[in-house]
Amino acid sequence: MGLVLDPGPLRPGPFLWTLPYTLLGVLLALLSGTRPRYHRGLFIALSDWGFAHLFLTRRGFVAMTLGRVILTTRPLTMATWVHELVHVQQYERWGPLFLPLYLWWHVRRGYQENPFERAAAAVAARLCQEAPDRAAAQIWPPAL
Ligand SMILES: [Zn+2]
Repeated sequence: MGLVLDPGPLRPGPFLWTLPYTLLGVLLALLSGTRPRYHRGLFIALSDWGFAHLFLTRRGFVAMTLGRVILTTRPLTMATWVHELVHVQQYERWGPLFLPLYLWWHVRRGYQENPFERAAAAVAARLCQEAPDRAAAQIWPPAL
């Protein structure tokens, strides 16, 4: 099975199902002084300031996904993109239940052993193993 590199077409059901999280992502982006930009079916907010930046960097993270919004503190590599794409698919599968389930697993097992994180990390690790140059390549913001 090939790697999934795009979120696929925007379908109304999953879009509505995850809309509250997408709106929360947009709100956090705006509170972080940035406007989400559309890229390949998702919205990406790159921020070096404000709430999202503090929240992520204090935990040693680069990016996080809320619905269809990726909040990131650095330009995205393909490896980070495929990791966050798995979370987009998880949001679409679990809808409003995703964040409570994610947090439940986080409390029980911690970040590394959270099944949602393990699935995302496995996809990114596979890309890094099979195509390290491609995994490290910056995909967003796109080169001018
Ligand atoms: Zn993750």
